[in-house]
Amino acid sequence: MEYKECLKCGHRNQNVLAGDAVKCPECGAYYAKVEAQLKREADKERAEAERRARELDAKRPKTQVKTYKGKQSRAVKAFQKEAEHLESQGYQPASELWEAGRWNAFQILVCLMFAFLFLFIPLIGWLIALFLVFYLLIARPPGTLTVTYKRDDQAG
Ligand SMILES: [Zn+2]
Repeated sequence: MEYKECLKCGHRNQNVLAGDAVKCPECGAYYAKVEAQLKREADKERAEAERRARELDAKRPKTQVKTYKGKQSRAVKAFQKEAEHLESQGYQPASELWEAGRWNAFQILVCLMFAFLFLFIPLIGWLIALFLVFYLLIARPPGTLTVTYKRDDQAG
């Protein structure tokens, strides 16, 4: 059945054909007026939401710097995972810098001191001392991958 529903009071006017009615018989409101008013309110709300979204977007930093520590393969994996996430927020990696880890002076000193002490134990101690020195030379402490992300404003 055809009817005209009043957007103000919800009354369904079934006495007239939908196109002919101008006024709600229940509350007396003019359909066109109510509809125009509702549209104005919706437009205002939408404009306000857009303004808020723009404001929020302007507050986001233009660049973000992230560091990933660990072995290179692990750092790269962590980077790739986060890059995906940041990409969905409009950030693209702009530069990547890998710095290999280095033992600091204290770590070297402690290791050499132990190596020196082990020298006093014949054979097995010498082997351990040798291993400690080789470990210093070959093993690498965790490195740092530094990535700078830039906001991709064209996409947003
Ligand atoms: Zn009405």
